[in-house]
Amino acid sequence: MNYTSEEIRKALEDNEFCVYYQPMFVTMTGQLKSAEALIRWIRPDGTFISPAQFIPTAERSDLIMDIDWYVTESVCKTLEKQNTMPQFPISVNFSRRHIREKNFTENLVSIVDKYELPHPLLEVEITESAMVGEEDKLYDWIVSIRNAGFSVAIDDFGSGLSSLQFVKDIPADVLKIDKSLLSHNCEDEKERIVLESIFNFAHRLNMKTVAEGVETKEQLAFLRSCDCYKIQGYLFARPMPESDYLLLCQSNNVSEQSEDVLQIQSNTSATNLLLQAVLARHPLIFFVNLTRNTYYAMAYKNFTSTGCPSTGIFDELIGHGTLSMHPDDREIFASTFNRENLIEKYKQGEKFVRLITRQLGDDGIYRKVETVDCFVKSSYSDDIIAITLCENLPE
Ligand code: C2E
Ligand code: CA
Ligand code: CA
Repeated sequence: MNYTSEEIRKALEDNEFCVYYQPMFVTMTGQLKSAEALIRWIRPDGTFISPAQFIPTAERSDLIMDIDWYVTESVCKTLEKQNTMPQFPISVNFSRRHIREKNFTENLVSIVDKYELPHPLLEVEITESAMVGEEDKLYDWIVSIRNAGFSVAIDDFGSGLSSLQFVKDIPADVLKIDKSLLSHNCEDEKERIVLESIFNFAHRLNMKTVAEGVETKEQLAFLRSCDCYKIQGYLFARPMPESDYLLLCQSNNVSEQSEDVLQIQSNTSATNLLLQAVLARHPLIFFVNLTRNTYYAMAYKNFTSTGCPSTGIFDELIGHGTLSMHPDDREIFASTFNRENLIEKYKQGEKFVRLITRQLGDDGIYRKVETVDCFVKSSYSDDIIAITLCENLPE
């Protein structure tokens, strides 16, 4: 049954609403990390009314805003009770109406400050679908919340017509992946590919990831392999009343030595760490298919001269590179990285080809650079592949 907004408003005034907490855990270690606040309507006779029966009605008017602020205040009260015990961040669901609310961030700050709570203890959740159509205001709204020290999560990602293009421009901290993307045991190959790509995409954009609706061990195992940061779901805990949540927090001693991340990490996270180190050292990287005479630039950050397209014909890249070299270095550069020469070296069993030259920077100054072509084996093809790592050398 659905309720009218008058009934809902009266229930709010009569204090029939309360907040339940559903904990979130670190996927790799199972440690308690945070919680989500979920509203519950409990009638005086004990009847439980799920949010699905009144949130949609409340969302048709500003009533939802009163509900969300009520939840925010309740969350602050809960956090205040934890002053002498471990406190974990709590996320609050905000309806799309808040995006256009005047002084949203100021209101949030004033409530949280009233309880003297550190701002990082509060996270704002907003569903991806709520953001569509609000693009003009959205960016500033999120930036102002984050500038005030709160974190922002995109909720229910994947539940509607999700667009990676859209999400990539939203400066959120967290991407919550909707439960509808997880089948019972994640055994479908295509589903796994979609999820792996979403996690990879979010991590590359430096967003933390949360999977919601995790109910089975199979889902957990798969999410670990995707490096999903946190999980929320019945497998670990259902939404619970405040008293149970406080007990749970109390029994979780955060000062306990946590596991060494290097021992529990998946191959993906090891690769990500390695990639960070490689990118720190080599701001310009190309993937080169010597058989097909093509290349793709993987990264170019603050490199001396980067006036080349991000993808194209390898011979042209070398021609372009040669011209950017000091005149005395051009011949050696062109002959070393000539495609035939590289293929020859590969066939002779060389692992890499390396050269130091002087390259002209955008500022008109020549700098020493090292170029190394490493031969690698692709598991998908017999083409001869090389990775070009470029590095600025100190003078
Ligand atoms: P949501 O934000 O996506 O919240 C997660 C929902 O998934 C919750 O439903 C939670 O109980 C449920 N859930 C968690 N783990 C599992 C699981 O393992 N399996 C399954 N099947 N479900 C799981 P709930 O509490 O019924 O809330 C439903 C929706 O109502 C929320 O979806 C949120 O959109 C809305 N809502 C709840 N509280 C508030 C609030 O304070 N303000 C606003 N604006 N919306 C709220
Ligand atoms: Ca939510
Ligand atoms: Ca959700």
